[in-house]
Amino acid sequence: MPVIDDPAPLSTHGPARVVAMCNQKGGVGKTTTTINLGAALAEYGRKVLLVDFDPQGSLSVGLGLNPHEMDLTIYNLLMERDVSLAEAVVASGIDNVDLLPANIDLSAAEVQLVHEVAREQTLQRVLAPAVADYDVILIDCQPSLGLLTVNALTAANGVIIPLECEYFALRGVALLKTTIDKVTERLNPNLTVDGVLGTMYDGRTLHSREVMERLVQAWGDTVFHTVIRRTVKFSDSTVAGEPITSYAGTSAGAEAYRQLAREVIARWRRDG
Ligand code: ADP
Ligand code: MG
Repeated sequence: MPVIDDPAPLSTHGPARVVAMCNQKGGVGKTTTTINLGAALAEYGRKVLLVDFDPQGSLSVGLGLNPHEMDLTIYNLLMERDVSLAEAVVASGIDNVDLLPANIDLSAAEVQLVHEVAREQTLQRVLAPAVADYDVILIDCQPSLGLLTVNALTAANGVIIPLECEYFALRGVALLKTTIDKVTERLNPNLTVDGVLGTMYDGRTLHSREVMERLVQAWGDTVFHTVIRRTVKFSDSTVAGEPITSYAGTSAGAEAYRQLAREVIARWRRDG
């Protein structure tokens, strides 16, 4: 792993790079990466907005919110034109990180959006007022390639694809790539894959190492040098409602997400 220096601090904020955390498979580390990459970017002085775009609401719950006590969620922003972004954004409990929460209401949006004009651009319209205020907007996608995920890909500048280092991880990636290509062709010509992230890596097993090798064969430089190892500290920190960077700030897991933050900032700079 090449050493990447700490990014220079920012003197002004915005415009934000919008990144969709995307894989139609569940349990691959999308939500964990959204929280912890967000927290690590904030440690480097970036102003971060986390967008819960999964009706399961795991990101919101993972940051300590009660799904039944949410006043306004992303659902209201998508479906009601008179609700402003500022009304729905809440503090995440992490310095420099805000949250746009979601709960099960969002599952209705998938059905209702079908009848909307410019249905694929709805999230992009909702997030537009936030772009000037934040440096990074991370969208935690649901595990599907349906209309919500297409909205996320249409709103995004980049995609991060977390992939579990298990044998069947590569299944389904071709379909995800096809979806990204279609969105690029028809809706969002500037969309780029920021990187593929190996998660739940266990260096003691041959198959984790083999999966990483196959990932690099398939995706080349797009695969992040940073790899997230398997550790129970991630589920422990979720139970605590905190990112690993504060729950276990000196742990290898926290350090891995800081390294990922440095790596993505370097890539964004390179890609302009
Ligand atoms: P997704 O959002 O893709 O469904 P999650 O981020 O919710 O995936 O992760 C699924 C489960 O795996 C959660 O219980 C989470 O705490 C756990 N987990 C995530 N990353 C790791 C890791 N690197 N090591 C061990 N457990 C992890
Ligand atoms: Mg999730």
